[in-house]
Amino acid sequence: MININSLELSYGTDEFRLSIPQLKIESTEKVAIIGPSGSGKTTLLKLISGIIQPQRGRVEIGEVAINELSDPQCRDYRISNIGYIFQDFELLDYLNVQDNILHPFRITQSLKIDNQVRDRVKSLAEEMGIADKLKRLTNNLSQGEKQRTAICRAMITAPKLILADEATGNLDPSNKTKILDALFRSTDKNKATLIAVTHDHELLDRFDRVIDFKQFCDGESV
Ligand code: ADP
Ligand code: MG
Repeated sequence: MININSLELSYGTDEFRLSIPQLKIESTEKVAIIGPSGSGKTTLLKLISGIIQPQRGRVEIGEVAINELSDPQCRDYRISNIGYIFQDFELLDYLNVQDNILHPFRITQSLKIDNQVRDRVKSLAEEMGIADKLKRLTNNLSQGEKQRTAICRAMITAPKLILADEATGNLDPSNKTKILDALFRSTDKNKATLIAVTHDHELLDRFDRVIDFKQFCDGESV
């Protein structure tokens, strides 16, 4: 599913340098990414989704070399095929919850809203416990509700790849389990691949594999 080779990235502004000689993630694998703050976990998710480009190396998702696409192609590919739950949510505060969830459909012509999609908004919102908040502006939500909105938006396209950046970070223990259950259920249902950055070490044994980012500081391969 994901194949990274000879990847090198630096931001040019500080000491940070990410170097991944090789990393493979199989289709339908559920991988947890752990590692110290500032070690490049978010950077890796952004590289996989083509939000940023490496200085060197290749990032392939299936047959697609993500770093060889043009900017518009890459954006379209990302919106249609990847569910990205951002660490800071990136919700639009001038839209209500429902319109935030539907946003991927409004920003690419590759996706069309139909009744099935509208039903999916409702069922996802119910599953995430925010069905009564669909008409509310996101400014008036708690952190946990914002997070769950961001998760619904990531799932609405039934993506084959889900990138979750600390998606359970702001939740109390019972909601954490609920959200992770929903993420896993959606991943299984869509036969998708899940890559989740997490600090919740008690959740790690639910994943197929754990990648510790410390190893990339030494330039080892996985
Ligand atoms: P993590 O998610 O593991 O906490 P990040 O991938 O967010 O780490 O960041 C890795 C390093 O890159 C940090 O030192 C961070 O300050 C730096 N960094 C992240 N984004 C940028 C950026 N856009 N410009 C410059 N430096 C950045
Ligand atoms: Mg991060």
